[in-house]
Amino acid sequence: MSLDRAEQVAVVSVGDELLAGAHPDLNGPFLAGQMALHGRSVRRVLVVGDDEADIAGAVDLAAREAGLVFVTGGLGPTLDDVTRHGVARSVGAPLVESAEAWAEVRGWFERAGREILDSNRRQALLPEGAERVPNAFGTAPGFRAIHPSGAAVIVLPGPPRELQGVFVAEVEPWLRERPVGTLARARAVACFADLPESTFAERVGDWMARDANPLIGVTAKEGILTARCVGRDEDPAEALRLAEARAAELAALFPDQHLGGEVEDFGAFVGAQLVARGETFAVAESCTGGAVAGAVTAAPGVSAVFRGSFVTYADDWKESALGVPGSILQEHGAVSRACAEAMARGALLEADVQLAVSVTGIAGPDGGTDDKPVGLVWFGVARRGADGQVTTRAVERRWPPLGRARVRRWARNKALSLLLRPDAI
Ligand code: ATP
Ligand code: MG
Repeated sequence: MSLDRAEQVAVVSVGDELLAGAHPDLNGPFLAGQMALHGRSVRRVLVVGDDEADIAGAVDLAAREAGLVFVTGGLGPTLDDVTRHGVARSVGAPLVESAEAWAEVRGWFERAGREILDSNRRQALLPEGAERVPNAFGTAPGFRAIHPSGAAVIVLPGPPRELQGVFVAEVEPWLRERPVGTLARARAVACFADLPESTFAERVGDWMARDANPLIGVTAKEGILTARCVGRDEDPAEALRLAEARAAELAALFPDQHLGGEVEDFGAFVGAQLVARGETFAVAESCTGGAVAGAVTAAPGVSAVFRGSFVTYADDWKESALGVPGSILQEHGAVSRACAEAMARGALLEADVQLAVSVTGIAGPDGGTDDKPVGLVWFGVARRGADGQVTTRAVERRWPPLGRARVRRWARNKALSLLLRPDAI
């Protein structure tokens, strides 16, 4: 099932200041949020300068793709406001003075006690055949025209306060009379740790298609991948069933990485899971400098299972606090499998817990070598078995050197996922 063009919306935000980086576009996001509430989806937001040809080109592109096009900004009285000209060119109608629009502009100036200038006559120009959209919030009325593609083009004032006012007063009632998206939508979320987006996309294949039902949207942030599945159906219960079934299928594809539904705070999530498991744990951190401890302590009640973190930054402290043998540090260095395992073992024994995870790596920007580049991080896991025996394992990750802060956050989240799934290495 593909999304109907009528349901699709495009926004063209006009203004040199938006392109200059001086003002972020606020109208595109505002309209996108409103459209979601009206069962329509914004397919594209185009930002163009105050240039007649660029505006016409953007409106043409938007009107080919979407059944409804919003154009905002550039309706002012000055010669650099050319949105009405660009839209007129795109819809193929000459600009003519609208008596209604002129009365509205004049009325606004009279009420404001301001002298009207001849240049304000520009603001009463509408493409022939267009309908005026009154603006009770500023001088310039908007208008509604039909593009040769059949798309409705709604042109609105640019200042966000005016745009939002006119939207609520004039556009919402218009939209309500033209319902689309009779299909109900429902959402189910699956979150994963330590799962690269590319691996996900490859395994998931066609389910990721733009016109799939459910539609899957993926975001990845600091090692947590969130897949949002939106099911569509005439029956709301069926839409939800579709969404939930797909989320469950995704979970089944990656059982070792699956966390559950929406995870807002990974540290709090992991802390809560360990509380639920009742497994006592400690952490030994070098390059994360206590961030793993900081993250898990977001979980209320984690003191029942979390004893603490050894933030052993210096080599000699790894030796004295965790009992890492000096020979390991000399032979292999602090960023090594042997050191990661020894740190985890030391933390487990010192804290007298069932599980310990260690982190030791090179966050950069300096300190990398050919052998051990910036972004290399070793993780150790130590567990105490039922027989009291301590077993240790280690795993390395090599992240791209995209800055100290990111490497540290990736490392923190990898350590958290090892606390969650100590056997998954
Ligand atoms: P006016 O009649 O007030 O001149 P207008 O429709 O011509 O209205 P513009 O001249 O394009 O509006 O914009 C006026 C101001 O509104 C801009 O300088 C900018 O500060 C703000 N503005 C316009 N468009 C946007 C936008 N998309 N996002 C954020 N701010 C915007
Ligand atoms: Mg402008």
